[in-house]
Amino acid sequence: MSSNVALSKSAICPGLFVPSIAQDGLLVRLRIPGGLLNVAQCEAIAALADDADSGFVEVTNRANIQIRGLQADVSIEALEHLQAVGLASPIAAVDALRNIMGSPTAGIDRQQLLDTRPLIAAWNEYLTTRPDFAVLSPKFSVCFDGGEAVSVRDRPNDISLVAEAIDHEILFRLHLNLGDRGDAPCDVGVLVKPQESLPLLSAIAEIYCDYTEQVLKIEKQRKPRLRDLLHDWGVELFLQQVVDRLPFSWQRSESPANTLLLNHYQHLGVHSQRQAGFSYMGVVLPLGRLETQQWRELTTLAARYSNGILRLTPWQNLLLTDIPTPKVAAVQAEIEQLGLYVSATHPHSAIVACSGLSGCKASATDTQENALTLANHLAEHLTLDRSINIHFSGCEKSCAQHHTSDIALLGIAQEGEATYQIYVGDDGSKFGRSLDKTCTFTQLPTVIEQIIRTYQAKRFHPNETFRAFVNRHEIAELKQLFNIAQVVS
Ligand code: SF4
Repeated sequence: MSSNVALSKSAICPGLFVPSIAQDGLLVRLRIPGGLLNVAQCEAIAALADDADSGFVEVTNRANIQIRGLQADVSIEALEHLQAVGLASPIAAVDALRNIMGSPTAGIDRQQLLDTRPLIAAWNEYLTTRPDFAVLSPKFSVCFDGGEAVSVRDRPNDISLVAEAIDHEILFRLHLNLGDRGDAPCDVGVLVKPQESLPLLSAIAEIYCDYTEQVLKIEKQRKPRLRDLLHDWGVELFLQQVVDRLPFSWQRSESPANTLLLNHYQHLGVHSQRQAGFSYMGVVLPLGRLETQQWRELTTLAARYSNGILRLTPWQNLLLTDIPTPKVAAVQAEIEQLGLYVSATHPHSAIVACSGLSGCKASATDTQENALTLANHLAEHLTLDRSINIHFSGCEKSCAQHHTSDIALLGIAQEGEATYQIYVGDDGSKFGRSLDKTCTFTQLPTVIEQIIRTYQAKRFHPNETFRAFVNRHEIAELKQLFNIAQVVS
């Protein structure tokens, strides 16, 4: 194996070479640049999952693969095989750097301006063969958005390059994360040509390396985030340093008015591709998990009906693509036989939970089991006509989802039955607006059903979203409308 770097197990940011220790064993995470996996890679992942007690392959909110419940380190032979199929970096020390994100519909999206897949592959190749980048925070993250309808521009990344059409030319607009953990990156008014994007990223990474080395001389432990550098220097000084390293100049331009309304679950279900006669299908993975056997069967399905590629999404589900349109019904039937769904409005489509008690000792509740029970209850008792994003978190850290959800359920540490604090809508805070109500898990399915039924009955019109509905009411009004006082404390 081509690594001579001494690595040790980590409590945070697990990778493939550096597992983290969780409640249920070792946890490894594999970077999947752009979320694209071929058949050989899917088979290698299944083989790795066979060694885990969990029995699951998990898709994370960065479109990584995660395997939990390993009782021993991944063997050298297995690591070498993963390197051979392109699932592990040639240099172990840079493998922990965050996955490179792209739209899961890159290259097939009818609305895209640019196919970002070659750029993602090229940046990955460059990043993972630069040993000096190992000094960077493992949270260093880059995203390419090619203007697809399935946009990733608001996903939390240090750097996003977002395609824009300007005067008949496609350019990338540079966005940098200037805010907090989980914030979307902000436009900093810089435009570059696609062929300039890699030199731009390289210049940024090199400046960030130099800064990190300086900081580490003073603070021996903590690696700074890119946003620490931006706060320290200010954006304009930073940009000046970057452009000074480039062999080209860039355009500066104010951001256009943003009228884009992002719908994060629109890729689920069946959609036509930009390639005539072909469709893609977004498959719901309950809580981002697939049993290893389901994973194998989906791989077989992709190989039989299309090009054998699975595309992971940062919404913890996946796409099968390049399906000849006449075969769509057969593929859908086989997916449903696997116990999976393809509808964006299925209650499982937008429920998110952190690892909870089984995987994390900080958790107050068994978020995963509780989330599955709630989704099953809603599937049995309700029909949704819009996706509603429900987020279970075992503590305030909110690992599973950094942005506000429609309904957030925060586990509370107390004796006896699992208890949750309920939040709805958006007020700029991490979880949203507190209903100032706690609720035991026995009560929760009925309460959430009641909340959703009220929204469906009282919304202005069928297109009013859950979030818009709750945001236009005061909390006191909502409590009255939801009429949950009798059920909860
Ligand atoms: S949100 Fe809290 S409980 Fe859940 S995985 Fe993260 S640290 Fe653990």
